[in-house]
Amino acid sequence: MASITVWNEYIHERENDRVADLYPDGIHTYIADLLAEAGHDTSTATLDEPENGLPPGALEDTDVLLWWGHLAHDEVEESVAERVATRVREGMGLVVLHSGHHSKPFRKLLGMPADLTYREAEERERLHVVDPGHPITDGLPESFVVPEAEMYGEPFTVPEPDRLVFISWFEGGEVFRSGCCYRRGKGRIFYFRPGHETYPVYHQEEIQQVLRNATDWASPVAGSPYPTECRPVDDPAEDIDGYEP
Ligand code: ZN
Repeated sequence: MASITVWNEYIHERENDRVADLYPDGIHTYIADLLAEAGHDTSTATLDEPENGLPPGALEDTDVLLWWGHLAHDEVEESVAERVATRVREGMGLVVLHSGHHSKPFRKLLGMPADLTYREAEERERLHVVDPGHPITDGLPESFVVPEAEMYGEPFTVPEPDRLVFISWFEGGEVFRSGCCYRRGKGRIFYFRPGHETYPVYHQEEIQQVLRNATDWASPVAGSPYPTECRPVDDPAEDIDGYEP
């Protein structure tokens, strides 16, 4: 069991009837409920809350943060994005969903723009598992279809992933690296492409399986604390001839 926080900008659901029908209490609540059913402690945070729902200390006990954003990446406070990035380096997992590729925490941690091509044409997407031994693929078939998808295409301007788990093919012919694993500091990061708000993507069993697996995979691992600042060393492990601090 892990402690999970699901963050959502929570705008589409309050402005678009189709999205509201799919996610009456918001995508964040829908995903939090799904992960609670899997046995996790879950909480949510949204853009319109003070400090975007993530004030200092809010993520201290969070093992994995899931992030859904699209329209309002710029409205996320710089200090909040930096706080998220710091917690990831300290060991918190981060699962970045769909249009979260352009979120401040993801771009900050990756150090790249994370641009891509896109088209909203209600087209078919087939996701292929390209790393079948990876824990994020547990319980999945070799490939599966999202019947209605927004297309995201290459080039995807991100650093080469440490592990590439899924590749998508789209009806229009494009391909995309849809499941990318990174590590920054002690923290594990997984970017997962599907999740366009006007299609019932998170209602699909295979997608839900990926969310459960990704949460497990991104949970913190044991190890020494990760340094977060420079530190002078006046008492070296070995004596240095002639050195007196
Ligand atoms: Zn979208």
